[in-house]
Formats: sequence, structure tokens, C-alpha cells
Amino acid sequence: LNFKGKTVGPGFKFLKTADNNLIFLSLGSNISPRQQYISKSLHLLKEYFPARFRVSSFYVTDPFQGMNQQAYINCSVQCWTDLNPLEMLDTISEIETIVGRKRSGKKWESRIIDIDILLWGKQVIEQPRLTIPHYDLSNRDFFLIPLLELDNTLIHPCKGDFLLTELEKIPPLLLTHPVKIKQDCSQTYHKFHQE
Ligand code: ATP
Ligand code: CA
Ligand code: CA
Repeated sequence: LNFKGKTVGPGFKFLKTADNNLIFLSLGSNISPRQQYISKSLHLLKEYFPARFRVSSFYVTDPFQGMNQQAYINCSVQCWTDLNPLEMLDTISEIETIVGRKRSGKKWESRIIDIDILLWGKQVIEQPRLTIPHYDLSNRDFFLIPLLELDNTLIHPCKGDFLLTELEKIPPLLLTHPVKIKQDCSQTYHKFHQE
């Protein structure tokens, strides 16, 4: 299968509309210098995916589920891609490695950078290595708040309700209380990339 010059693996049914390949990512870092790791990742992502590239503000958030870790910085990215989802997963893993992520295999360990795919248009994708929407999207305010800053009309492709409503339903114990950083690098980032 060939899709806009890119080979598309079996199992992917693309509606050939631009918005179907409009995706949302989440970035997070809790090892210093956190903003630099996020900015480096954003520059690389922008190089790989220059089309319709938008970045949310940066937010400081508590570690998830009360874990005893340094606070995180999170943001969300919207971009357009002609890669298929598994190619995208490999590309973001490559970017994580370039930025310096080391994996010990422990779940939810502190990390230099984590890039997750939150949404892929309105598609639901179930692959052994990939679940989209992200399996925990509805439970994480540090995903939803930056994401909704980019588009507050988004709907959960499986559940069919507004992500804004999902956010309001998160149990208090799961909240990580994202606080927007006033003069964050995302502003500088936008200045560099106004074209
Ligand atoms: P969590 O997935 O709970 O946020 P994590 O991001 O720390 O935890 P990782 O070690 O970064 O977990 O990723 C584990 C695996 O998750 C990856 O190797 C990848 O194959 C898989 N994965 C499944 N769905 C997604 C997705 N939507 N985005 C990114 N990775 C995904
Ligand atoms: Ca993650
Ligand atoms: Ca991840």
C-alpha cells in the first residue's frame, strides 16, 4: 500500500483526509534541565514534522500517583504526519534516544524525556506495541490540560464524549495539578518558529 509516497503497513485503513493524520503527542521530563530536554525534543519533532506544528504552554506537574520523584514538566504537540503509526512510534523513540533517554526497564522511572502518542485523528489503533488513544488518556490531567489548550473541542474516539468532560471526572487522588509556567521556553520556541 502506498499513501502519499509512504508505504503503509497492513491493518491501517486511512481515510485520505488531512485531518485523519493530524496527531497529538505528550512530552514529559522530570530530570534536570527539564525545559532544555523538552525544547530539544520539540526542535527535533519540528524538523521531522514541520506541517501544522503547534506546541502548548509548558506545565509543572506533580509526579503521577504520588510517586516520590522530582516534579515533571509536560506539554502537548499537534502535528501532521504521513508516517504510519508504527513508523511514528519508532521515530519518537529515536528522538527520545537522541535527547538522552536511557531505559532500565523499570515502569514509570524518572526520565529525561518521554513522548507518548495521545490521539491520531479520530482513529482507534490497537497493535501489540501501540494503543491509540493512549490507554490512560482519560485519567491524566497532565495529558488533558495541555492537549485541551491546543483544542478544547476534542472528543475521545472510543468513548465519544468531550475530553473536557473526561478531565472533570478524574478522581482527586489521580490529579497532578498542572500549573502553567509563566515565561516558559514554549514562548521562546514559538518566537523561533513563527514561520
Ligand atoms: P505509560 O505508557 O503508562 O505512560 P511510559 O510512557 O513510561 O508509561 P514507556 O516505557 O515509555 O512507558 O513505553 C512503553 C511502551 O508503550 C512503548 O515501548 C510502546 O511500544 C508502548 N506504547 C503503546 N501505546 C503507546 C502510545 N500511544 N504512545 C507511546 N508508546 C506507546
Ligand atoms: Ca508516558
Ligand atoms: Ca512513553
